Amino acid sequence: TSFDALGLAPEILKAIIHAGYPSPTDVQAEAVPVALTGVDLLVSSQTGSGKTAAFVWPALQRILLARQDPSKKRLKGQPQGPRILVLAPTRELAMQVSRACMQYGHGVQGLRIAHVVGGVPYQAQLKALRGPLDILIATPGRLLDLMGSGAAIMSQVEMLVLDEADRMLDMGFIDDITTIAQALPEQRQTLMFSATFAGNVGQLARQLTRDPQRISM
Ligand code: AMP
Repeated sequence: TSFDALGLAPEILKAIIHAGYPSPTDVQAEAVPVALTGVDLLVSSQTGSGKTAAFVWPALQRILLARQDPSKKRLKGQPQGPRILVLAPTRELAMQVSRACMQYGHGVQGLRIAHVVGGVPYQAQLKALRGPLDILIATPGRLLDLMGSGAAIMSQVEMLVLDEADRMLDMGFIDDITTIAQALPEQRQTLMFSATFAGNVGQLARQLTRDPQRISM
């Protein structure tokens, strides 16, 4: 498979070509075309498989489409919350996702990305959440704190991504994730990435997704 076959917009393809990769990884070739159709997706994949790009590319495509949709125009005085919410287990992983969004979103005009993670002063994060946002990347605990204070608007989320879902559950984030998901529109696309979908992760998947497609690498 070549990158051209994935169905991505030229703005995104350009950034991918610029990264210099020879071809999509297996998880990218399998997951990206399916994710672009808008269905929910459960992907079993390991770190190092290229899974970050497998959800960042479809997320960016969604932003591009929203920009072209008059019904999604951002009006002054209306909520300007993120269209994409990515939950990740650790600060390091959240930063990695944030960097990937910036790298591959280079050609997306005016792209607004914010991340909120634990262990950082609240003030800077409150500031990052002000103004229109496209993508928010967060660790669950800190996001929940900020939602409680009314700083994080979740009513416009179109796509939820859970990165390394199994690790988030190992770290005890199950209740936080469930509470966050309850604040999101029901009408949304949900993508879950996890090394395994056994046990609790499978249960969470049934709770958060609708008729998901499964991809195992
Ligand atoms: P991840 O599995 O998302 O942690 O990605 C692991 C590494 O693979 C990252 O450093 C990416 O820069 C790299 N990568 C992503 N996509 C590709 C690709 N198509 N070909 C080669 N490397 C890639």
